[in-house]
Amino acid sequence: MALPKIDNLEIKKVTEDILLVHQIKHPFFFSCCDGLLILPKKERNKYLIALDLNIESKYVKLLNDVYGPISDYVCSHGHLDHICHVHAWEELGATVYAPFPESNFLLDFDNFYRGFGFNDELEFETVERFGKLNGYHKCEQLNPFIPGITLKFEDFIVKTISFSGHSKGHVGFLLPRQKILHISCLGFDKPNPETDGFGPWYGFKQCSISQYCEDIKNAEQIFLENAKFLTSSHSYIVHNPDLSPFKYLKKKIMVNQELVDTAIKSNKLTKKSEKEIVDKLLEMDLFFPKKKLKGVVFDIYRFWESWIIRNHLKERRN
Ligand SMILES: [Zn+2]
Repeated sequence: MALPKIDNLEIKKVTEDILLVHQIKHPFFFSCCDGLLILPKKERNKYLIALDLNIESKYVKLLNDVYGPISDYVCSHGHLDHICHVHAWEELGATVYAPFPESNFLLDFDNFYRGFGFNDELEFETVERFGKLNGYHKCEQLNPFIPGITLKFEDFIVKTISFSGHSKGHVGFLLPRQKILHISCLGFDKPNPETDGFGPWYGFKQCSISQYCEDIKNAEQIFLENAKFLTSSHSYIVHNPDLSPFKYLKKKIMVNQELVDTAIKSNKLTKKSEKEIVDKLLEMDLFFPKKKLKGVVFDIYRFWESWIIRNHLKERRN
C-alpha cells in the first residue's frame, strides 16, 4: 500500500499497517510530537486508532480522510507538545484516553498551570500566552487511566508503561503483538543518527533524574526482550538490537550532571545556598541560550532551566 503524500508530514511504515507520523515544521516551540497510527485491519480494529500523535488540526483532518474514521486516541502525558491539538481528534469522534492526573491538563489550562507548578513562580497569563502560541485548545471529555494498565480496542492491545522520571503520568506504549515499543518522551530526540538533540528533559519540580535512570534501564530491557522496533515522540525508527538510544540517554544525563558540577566548582559555589547556586548558574546559560530569548519564551525557559539545575543539585546530595 502506497503512503499518502501530505505536504509538511513525514509518514513512515513501522510495519505494514502501523505508521509513524511526524509534522516537519511546527507553529511554535512545543506544539507537536510524533505518534503512531494504527490503521484499520480486519479482525483487529475496524477503525483508525492514534497513539500520541499531537499535530495541527489541518493534518489530523487530512489523515482522518485517508485512514479514518478514528475511534480512539491515547495521549502519553500532559506536556504541551502532547496535548495542544488532541481536541482535533476528539472533534472527529475519537474517544480520548490520557494518564491520570495529567488527563486533567487536557480539560482546563489552569490544571496544566498548577499541575506542573508554574503557579509557584509565574503568572497565569504568562503561561497561558505560551499555551496559546503553541495552539493549546482544550478537550471536552477525557478517559483517565492509571499508568501501567493495558488498553484494549477491539482486538488491538496496547500496554502502557510508566516512565515517570519525565513527568508523573508519562507513559510509553508496548504493542506486544506488533513488537513495537514507543518510548514517548523519554528523551531520544535525534532527528537522524548523525544529528544531536537535547536529550532527556526534566525541567519541572515533579521530575526526577534518579527515576529517569531507572526508566531508561526498564525501557532498554523491555525493548531487548519484547520489541523489534523502537519509536518515540521526536525521533526515527530504531531496530532491535540497536541500543544507541539508551546509550545516548544515559550519556546526556551524565554530561548534564558534569556541567552543573563543574560550574559549581569553578565558581566556588560549593558552600553557597541553593538559591545562590541556581541564580548564578542561570546567568551562565548552561542549558538554554536564554540571552537570545525574550518575553514569555524567556520566562518559561528560565523556569524550566531552574528546575533542570535543581534536579541535578538533588542528585549531588543523594
Ligand atoms: Zn514531555
